[in-house]
Amino acid sequence: MKPNLLDLDAAALAAFFASLGEKPFRARQVLRWVHQSGEGDFARMSDLAKDLRAKLGHAARIEAPRIVGDSIAADGTRKWLLKVDGANAVDAVFIPETGRGTLCVSSQAGCVLDCAFCSTGKQGFNRNLSTAEIVGQLWLANRLLEGERPVTNVVLMGMGEPLLNLDNVVPALRLMLDDNAYGLSRRRVTVSTSGVIPGMDQLREACPVALAVSLHAPTDELRERLVPVNRKYPIRDLLAACRRYLEKAPRDFITFEYVMLDGVNDGDAEARALARIAAQVSSKFNLIPFNPFPRTEFRRSPPERIRRFAQILQAKGVTVTTRRTRGDAIDAACGQLAGAVADRTRRSRSLRLAEARS
Ligand code: SAH
Ligand code: SF4
Repeated sequence: MKPNLLDLDAAALAAFFASLGEKPFRARQVLRWVHQSGEGDFARMSDLAKDLRAKLGHAARIEAPRIVGDSIAADGTRKWLLKVDGANAVDAVFIPETGRGTLCVSSQAGCVLDCAFCSTGKQGFNRNLSTAEIVGQLWLANRLLEGERPVTNVVLMGMGEPLLNLDNVVPALRLMLDDNAYGLSRRRVTVSTSGVIPGMDQLREACPVALAVSLHAPTDELRERLVPVNRKYPIRDLLAACRRYLEKAPRDFITFEYVMLDGVNDGDAEARALARIAAQVSSKFNLIPFNPFPRTEFRRSPPERIRRFAQILQAKGVTVTTRRTRGDAIDAACGQLAGAVADRTRRSRSLRLAEARS
């Protein structure tokens, strides 16, 4: 198979061009064509000599995942279902807001970590996405959305645990940050992790971007039930890893994500315990109303409960935001992600439908 240029960050592309006997500045030109202009056809790269265009056409390809579903909610949230191979599809979600547009990107098909409240986890693990499949979500979104540079922020909060796929995630992040590619600032690219400590340390060295940590519980006992990886990486060690990450992070705080589960982790006692955690790491809290999916045992906390929980934290000096639920009708709220992906039967049905149509 010819190499896919979406798999190559700037250094890898330069090496590939060197192997073709081409100069590094040609690699930069092509990087700009592919990522800045969203060009997928070598023949249209008009400032390259014709013979180089032909040579590239023989030696390489530019291939993003295939779109098999595209839905837009009333609030403008747009979700694509992307087929990555014969058996797997992942979601990418675009959330437009005033002055910015956030793309929520998947990093794996399925997830091995099996958090109790997560529909992706319920699917089991299928495989890591390649760099091309990860950055390809951004490449596609920029091509499909209106306006110049519609995606201003990227969050790796789609399907999968990005820190268990760093070999492919890091080159994708480098492309997102590269001035010859997407040119996003480190502060506008956020990796979300369930707390895979070695991955946090590696990311800090390889490519420090903004970090969100899925905390979801203030005690090890409760967190083990909700986020099983806590057995391996308990809260105390996780907080130490957060402090280490902050030494190199582009922002001076960690975002703690906290899914609000009715009667499970949303009591006053939990809020007070969380405030004690917040005092140990420079942090902000993001409360995420639980997104239900078929056959889940959990319910979303009522709005008054979420408000009271936020108030307790705020009264103790913690910065808190509550995530607005977006794109409910298309199961696209970022961070539940795969409400739609969740249910295998529904997913494969929509895949089959999309295939039948195409
Ligand atoms: N694996 C990474 C990133 C993907 S999940 C992680 O766990 O952080 C992105 C966020 O969505 C996480 O905070 C996750 O806990 C949250 N999430 C998963 N399922 C959810 C659901 N059903 N409702 C609300 N948030 C959910
Ligand atoms: Fe995996 Fe994140 Fe879902 Fe947990 S919440 S199962 S780590 S995708």
